[in-house]
Amino acid sequence: MALIVHKYGGTSMGSTERIRFVAKRVAKWHRAGYQMVVVPSAMSGETNRLLGLARELAPGVETASFNRELDMIAATGEQVSVGLLAIALQAEGLEAVSYTGWQVPVQTDSAFTKARIQRIDDARVRADLGAGKVVVITGFQGIDPEGHITTLGRGGSDTSAVAVAAAMKAAECLIYTDVDGVYTTDPRVVPEARRLAAISFEEMLEMASLGSKVLQIRSVEFAGKYRVPLRVLSSFTPWDIDLAEEAASGTLITFEEDENMEQAVVSGIAFNRDEAKVTVTGVPDRPGIAFQILGPVADANIDVDVIIQNVSHDGRTDFSFTVHRNDYVRTIELLEASVLPATGAEQVTGDPKICKVSIVGIGMRSHVGVASKMFRVLSEEGINIQMISTSEIKTSVVIDEKYMELAVRALHKAFGLDAPAPMPAA
Ligand code: ASP
Ligand code: MG
Repeated sequence: MALIVHKYGGTSMGSTERIRFVAKRVAKWHRAGYQMVVVPSAMSGETNRLLGLARELAPGVETASFNRELDMIAATGEQVSVGLLAIALQAEGLEAVSYTGWQVPVQTDSAFTKARIQRIDDARVRADLGAGKVVVITGFQGIDPEGHITTLGRGGSDTSAVAVAAAMKAAECLIYTDVDGVYTTDPRVVPEARRLAAISFEEMLEMASLGSKVLQIRSVEFAGKYRVPLRVLSSFTPWDIDLAEEAASGTLITFEEDENMEQAVVSGIAFNRDEAKVTVTGVPDRPGIAFQILGPVADANIDVDVIIQNVSHDGRTDFSFTVHRNDYVRTIELLEASVLPATGAEQVTGDPKICKVSIVGIGMRSHVGVASKMFRVLSEEGINIQMISTSEIKTSVVIDEKYMELAVRALHKAFGLDAPAPMPAA
């Protein structure tokens, strides 16, 4: 009997009525002969509410001991969900049992609020499945080597589900969510955006890291590493739709070599408004300068994304990079306090009102001129490119935030993504 993992997000678990609906859907799969493991999130809004309570008592505190308690508190959201779902499944006439992360156990490291899964012991779950039960496991949480409860970071239930699917070698992991799949771009920005029937794992990883928030990025990394067949689909279809139809809906995240259909050159346009640009001007152009600027930034645990260094004039150059907007002020202060005096650079300036727009597609590997087409499209719209970065399967540009929607729409159209999906080959 094939094992299937279902994951349901907070909206899908948002009320007892929604939970009953989830139970009916799971029961349908179980009756069709699948072994079922279900990984739900906390009811929508619950994690925020719980973390908010903690924050009321200790605003601004960031200590490890505080984070330990945050995980203790946040993990209860999922504990309630699994219990409710197991009861709803029992009410449907199924045998069902729920487990928290520590009961399975899902073993993680000790990085509270952002722990990583290290091992899942599936013996207990397998025994239940063998006895005909549906097993409901909390998303988002685990247990560290000292027995402390940990959580995996916001949105972490996706990663829990994929990790369970990987550990148990599930036939497929289905992520039920409030959108019906992965789109060529955000439909709120481009109404012509299309749902992709399939996307390669590499493209999905780029799309997720570039700001398309359908899945927690770590879950996509996990799926790639352990080759978990993954599907994103809507939890809002009627629960009693035909199972075969449901099983083929949404977006399948595939592995490149499995693909036999002709690939579009560009599969999607991603954008990200979470970054800010920082520039150090008048930097003496000598070996080691990039390290002297970025070393202290890395030491302060600030992630750097796009980086450019200009050609030098009279031995001096400008050096720009982007950081998360939340780190913007801290980065400027750090550079002014330590990097300017240490390097003899002239000035630190910055711009938090930027955005990064990216074209993504594995077809870019084998097609030349894709980036230049992107630059042409932007220039025709009169949009100035401030920074560029590329990888094998994406090209990103940093532009003024106010042109974001214009850029995304123009690129979506220019790369043929507005067009209706081609008919699948017979
Ligand atoms: N409940 C957790 C959160 O809101 C985990 C999840 O929903 O994936 O971040
Ligand atoms: Mg989520």
